[in-house]
Amino acid sequence: MDPIERLGSMFERFPGIGPRQAGRFVQFLLRSSPSYRRELVDALQQLGGSVTQCTRCMRFHTGRGGICGICGNTQRDARFLAIVASDVDVSALERSGTYRGYYFVLGGTISLASEKTSNLRLSELLLHIGDTAYPYTEAILAFPANPEGDATATRVREELADIAAARDIKVTALGRGLSTGSELEYADPDTIQSAFESRR
Ligand SMILES: [Zn+2]
Repeated sequence: MDPIERLGSMFERFPGIGPRQAGRFVQFLLRSSPSYRRELVDALQQLGGSVTQCTRCMRFHTGRGGICGICGNTQRDARFLAIVASDVDVSALERSGTYRGYYFVLGGTISLASEKTSNLRLSELLLHIGDTAYPYTEAILAFPANPEGDATATRVREELADIAAARDIKVTALGRGLSTGSELEYADPDTIQSAFESRR
Protein backbone atom coordinates (compact mmCIF):
# COMPACT_ATOMS: atom_id res chain seq x y z
CA MET A 1 0.00 0.00 0.00
CA ASP A 2 1.12 3.53 -0.75
CA PRO A 3 2.58 5.01 2.50
CA ILE A 4 0.38 8.09 2.27
CA GLU A 5 -2.78 5.99 1.89
CA ARG A 6 -1.61 3.64 4.60
CA LEU A 7 -1.11 6.42 7.13
CA GLY A 8 -4.43 8.03 6.13
CA SER A 9 -6.32 4.80 6.70
CA MET A 10 -4.70 4.46 10.14
CA PHE A 11 -5.80 7.98 11.13
CA GLU A 12 -9.34 7.18 9.95
CA ARG A 13 -9.56 4.63 12.74
CA PHE A 14 -9.14 7.36 15.37
CA PRO A 15 -12.36 8.26 17.22
CA GLY A 16 -14.29 11.03 15.48
CA ILE A 17 -11.88 11.25 12.51
CA GLY A 18 -13.23 10.94 8.98
CA PRO A 19 -11.34 10.61 5.67
CA ARG A 20 -11.05 14.39 5.20
CA GLN A 21 -9.46 14.99 8.60
CA ALA A 22 -7.26 11.90 8.24
CA GLY A 23 -6.01 13.36 4.96
CA ARG A 24 -5.23 16.67 6.64
CA PHE A 25 -3.19 14.89 9.33
CA VAL A 26 -1.15 13.16 6.62
CA GLN A 27 -0.62 16.45 4.77
CA PHE A 28 0.50 18.04 8.05
CA LEU A 29 3.03 15.27 8.63
CA LEU A 30 4.30 15.50 5.05
CA ARG A 31 5.05 19.18 5.65
CA SER A 32 6.50 18.81 9.15
CA SER A 33 10.19 18.58 9.96
CA PRO A 34 12.05 15.27 10.14
CA SER A 35 12.79 15.96 13.82
CA TYR A 36 9.06 16.30 14.60
CA ARG A 37 8.34 13.04 12.79
CA ARG A 38 11.14 11.28 14.69
CA GLU A 39 9.70 12.61 17.95
CA LEU A 40 6.26 11.28 17.00
CA VAL A 41 7.63 7.84 16.16
CA ASP A 42 9.55 7.82 19.43
CA ALA A 43 6.44 8.77 21.43
CA LEU A 44 4.45 5.97 19.75
CA GLN A 45 7.15 3.43 20.50
CA GLN A 46 7.27 4.45 24.15
CA LEU A 47 3.54 3.88 24.43
CA GLY A 48 4.11 0.21 23.78
CA GLY A 49 6.96 -0.12 26.24
CA SER A 50 6.17 1.73 29.41
CA VAL A 51 2.43 2.38 29.65
CA THR A 52 0.39 0.47 32.21
CA GLN A 53 -3.17 0.77 33.45
CA CYS A 54 -3.74 2.05 36.99
CA THR A 55 -5.45 -0.63 39.04
CA ARG A 56 -7.36 1.98 41.07
CA CYS A 57 -8.61 4.67 38.64
CA MET A 58 -8.13 2.59 35.44
CA ARG A 59 -6.35 5.34 33.52
CA PHE A 60 -3.21 4.64 31.52
CA HIS A 61 0.03 5.98 32.92
CA THR A 62 3.76 5.67 32.41
CA GLY A 63 4.73 4.89 35.99
CA ARG A 64 5.87 1.47 37.07
CA GLY A 65 2.99 -0.97 37.54
CA GLY A 66 0.37 -0.70 40.25
CA ILE A 67 -1.29 2.65 40.76
CA CYS A 68 -0.71 5.99 39.03
CA GLY A 69 0.78 9.17 40.48
CA ILE A 70 -2.63 10.67 41.29
CA CYS A 71 -3.92 7.57 43.08
CA GLY A 72 -0.60 7.18 44.88
CA ASN A 73 -0.72 10.75 46.19
CA THR A 74 -1.98 10.58 49.78
CA GLN A 75 -2.24 14.40 49.96
CA ARG A 76 -5.36 14.41 47.79
CA ASP A 77 -8.85 14.86 49.22
CA ALA A 78 -9.99 11.32 49.97
CA ARG A 79 -13.65 12.33 50.37
CA PHE A 80 -14.19 12.86 46.64
CA LEU A 81 -14.32 10.52 43.66
CA ALA A 82 -14.83 12.08 40.23
CA ILE A 83 -16.18 9.58 37.71
CA VAL A 84 -15.09 10.61 34.21
CA ALA A 85 -15.54 9.16 30.74
CA SER A 86 -11.93 9.04 29.59
CA ASP A 87 -8.29 9.61 30.45
CA VAL A 88 -8.26 13.02 28.70
CA ASP A 89 -10.94 14.23 31.13
CA VAL A 90 -8.61 13.46 34.05
CA SER A 91 -5.96 15.62 32.38
CA ALA A 92 -8.50 18.42 31.80
CA LEU A 93 -9.62 18.43 35.45
CA GLU A 94 -6.02 18.29 36.65
CA ARG A 95 -5.09 21.25 34.42
CA SER A 96 -7.98 23.29 35.83
CA GLY A 97 -6.46 22.99 39.31
CA THR A 98 -9.97 23.00 40.82
CA TYR A 99 -10.39 19.42 41.89
CA ARG A 100 -8.22 17.67 44.48
CA GLY A 101 -9.98 14.34 44.95
CA TYR A 102 -9.47 11.00 43.24
CA TYR A 103 -10.76 9.67 39.91
CA PHE A 104 -12.37 6.68 38.27
CA VAL A 105 -12.23 6.42 34.47
CA LEU A 106 -15.32 4.72 33.09
CA GLY A 107 -13.80 4.17 29.66
CA GLY A 108 -16.38 6.00 27.53
CA THR A 109 -19.99 7.13 27.38
CA ILE A 110 -23.13 5.28 26.35
CA SER A 111 -23.69 5.43 22.60
CA LEU A 112 -27.27 6.57 22.03
CA ALA A 113 -27.45 4.56 18.80
CA SER A 114 -26.71 1.20 20.41
CA GLU A 115 -27.22 1.90 24.14
CA LYS A 116 -24.38 -0.56 24.60
CA THR A 117 -22.58 -0.41 27.94
CA SER A 118 -20.21 -3.34 27.44
CA ASN A 119 -17.34 -0.94 26.82
CA LEU A 120 -17.89 0.79 30.18
CA ARG A 121 -16.23 -0.31 33.41
CA LEU A 122 -19.50 -0.43 35.34
CA SER A 123 -18.77 -3.57 37.34
CA GLU A 124 -15.29 -2.28 38.19
CA LEU A 125 -16.87 0.98 39.32
CA LEU A 126 -19.29 -0.85 41.62
CA LEU A 127 -16.44 -2.81 43.17
CA HIS A 128 -14.47 0.40 43.60
CA ILE A 129 -17.30 2.33 45.27
CA GLY A 130 -18.10 -0.67 47.45
CA ASP A 131 -14.54 -0.97 48.70
CA THR A 132 -14.48 0.33 52.27
CA ALA A 133 -10.75 1.07 51.93
CA TYR A 134 -11.85 4.28 50.18
CA PRO A 135 -13.52 6.77 52.56
CA TYR A 136 -15.54 8.57 49.88
CA THR A 137 -18.46 10.75 50.92
CA GLU A 138 -19.28 12.03 47.45
CA ALA A 139 -19.11 10.59 43.93
CA ILE A 140 -19.16 13.34 41.29
CA LEU A 141 -20.34 12.40 37.79
CA ALA A 142 -18.19 14.50 35.46
CA PHE A 143 -19.38 13.53 32.00
CA PRO A 144 -19.53 15.66 28.84
CA ALA A 145 -22.51 18.03 28.62
CA ASN A 146 -24.09 16.23 25.67
CA PRO A 147 -26.85 13.58 25.23
CA GLU A 148 -24.36 10.69 25.55
CA GLY A 149 -22.94 12.20 28.74
CA ASP A 150 -26.44 12.67 30.16
CA ALA A 151 -27.46 9.10 29.30
CA THR A 152 -24.29 7.81 30.93
CA ALA A 153 -24.92 9.86 34.07
CA THR A 154 -28.47 8.49 34.33
CA ARG A 155 -27.26 4.92 33.93
CA VAL A 156 -24.39 5.30 36.41
CA ARG A 157 -26.75 6.86 38.99
CA GLU A 158 -29.03 3.83 38.67
CA GLU A 159 -26.14 1.40 38.96
CA LEU A 160 -24.69 3.16 42.00
CA ALA A 161 -27.94 3.84 43.85
CA ASP A 162 -27.89 0.84 46.22
CA ILE A 163 -24.21 0.75 47.04
CA ALA A 164 -24.00 4.54 47.43
CA ALA A 165 -26.97 4.50 49.83
CA ALA A 166 -25.45 1.63 51.78
CA ARG A 167 -22.16 3.48 52.13
CA ASP A 168 -23.76 6.89 52.65
CA ILE A 169 -22.05 8.34 49.58
CA LYS A 170 -23.77 11.28 47.92
CA VAL A 171 -23.91 11.05 44.13
CA THR A 172 -23.75 14.45 42.38
CA ALA A 173 -23.22 15.65 38.81
CA LEU A 174 -21.33 18.63 37.47
CA GLY A 175 -23.55 21.68 37.03
CA ARG A 176 -24.19 23.32 33.71
CA GLY A 177 -21.38 25.82 33.99
CA LEU A 178 -20.33 23.77 31.00
CA SER A 179 -22.24 24.96 27.99
CA THR A 180 -24.32 22.29 26.32
CA GLY A 181 -22.35 20.10 23.98
CA SER A 182 -19.00 20.92 25.50
CA GLU A 183 -16.41 18.33 26.31
CA LEU A 184 -14.44 18.70 29.53
CA GLU A 185 -11.19 18.47 27.64
CA TYR A 186 -11.90 21.74 25.81
CA ALA A 187 -13.32 23.63 28.79
CA ASP A 188 -11.27 26.40 30.36
CA PRO A 189 -10.34 26.28 34.08
CA ASP A 190 -12.95 28.89 35.12
CA THR A 191 -15.72 26.93 33.41
CA ILE A 192 -14.63 23.71 35.09
CA GLN A 193 -14.48 25.46 38.45
CA SER A 194 -18.02 26.83 38.10
CA ALA A 195 -19.26 23.41 36.97
CA PHE A 196 -17.82 21.93 40.18
CA GLU A 197 -19.26 24.68 42.36
CA SER A 198 -22.74 24.24 40.88
CA ARG A 199 -22.77 20.44 41.13
CA ARG A 200 -25.83 18.82 42.58
ZN1 LIG B 1 -4.86 5.94 39.19
